[in-house]
Amino acid sequence: MQNKKSLETALISSLQELLTDRQRQISIVVHTNPDGDAIGSALGFFTVLHRLGYSKVSVIAPNAYASFLHWMPGNDHVIIASEKPGVAKAAISNAHLLFCLDFNGFSRAEQLENALANSKAIKIMIDHHPQPEKGFDLIFSDTGVSSTAELIYEVITALGHEDAIDLDAAQCLYAGIVTDTGSFSFSCNNPRTYEITARLIGKGVDGAHIQRLIYSTYSAQRMRLLGFCLSEKLVVLEQHHTAYISLTKDEMQRFDHKEGDTEGIVNYALSIKGIRMAALFVEKDDCIKLSLRSTDPVDVNIFAREHYNGGGHKNAAGGKSFTDMHNTLMKFEVLVSREFI
Ligand code: 5GP
Ligand code: MN
Repeated sequence: MQNKKSLETALISSLQELLTDRQRQISIVVHTNPDGDAIGSALGFFTVLHRLGYSKVSVIAPNAYASFLHWMPGNDHVIIASEKPGVAKAAISNAHLLFCLDFNGFSRAEQLENALANSKAIKIMIDHHPQPEKGFDLIFSDTGVSSTAELIYEVITALGHEDAIDLDAAQCLYAGIVTDTGSFSFSCNNPRTYEITARLIGKGVDGAHIQRLIYSTYSAQRMRLLGFCLSEKLVVLEQHHTAYISLTKDEMQRFDHKEGDTEGIVNYALSIKGIRMAALFVEKDDCIKLSLRSTDPVDVNIFAREHYNGGGHKNAAGGKSFTDMHNTLMKFEVLVSREFI
């Protein structure tokens, strides 16, 4: 079962050696707009390191994240760089070891990109996205796992510390697996994912409880925003097997928008019969953020890389558009009609 390609003995031995001194500063960084897998992986790993006696461990997120992730044990320790840039950057530049979780290129940490690139720390990537970039000293990269949380479990186990995964850590890792597989509805055909899930459940995780914490905590306004998207904003391009939803800042304000409220909306567009690609366009201060989802054989990672300066996975990716909403949607319609399906 063990000995995955991403967990070669030499790589694990190198990490083991780097982790010898428990007094040194360790910083764990996740990507911008962190999702359940990013926060779950980081806090799961943080909790285990703490339990093993590492005394100086920081967790840094580039920006704030959805409140349905705030229940995770250790959440109060997360440094939000957009709120405390000095503290976050100091934690990165002073680190002896820098773990980059759930991303594989410094630019994904946006405002922390330069701090990461310039830090003298030993940089360790643990991630499951395709096409890892350069700049890291150790790379644990496996596109075959469901989530970074699954890979964190594998790394901790390969280091000989499975026992240090307590209930708090198990809940975080479980949350990462659940969110990155859409509650075991995609990226979930590998038996190993379920073996790890079973181990986490064995440590006391209450799967139904965590499901409620993540997915049944909508505010009434968030629910109404979803209703608005589906009834007023959904565009279906049937002939191109594509559906999309767009949201302007004004529209989001009407529904008292909070961080994370648009999360998951894109999946509704993909759940229409015959639709192979779905997109959500959300107006931000400096750009329009795109979320893309697909079913095979459509590859939205390539689509996002080619047209939207983005990336992600084959079936879930993101990117940005730097023109207004009208032109962004026109370009998107042209792209899908011309070259896509
Ligand atoms: P989401 O649509 O939920 O924001 O992101 C879906 C997937 O695409 C996630 O794996 C996320 O990390 C990745 N992703 C989102 N936006 C970007 C981006 O701008 N660049 C890259 N490289 N990946 C992105
Ligand atoms: Mn992930």
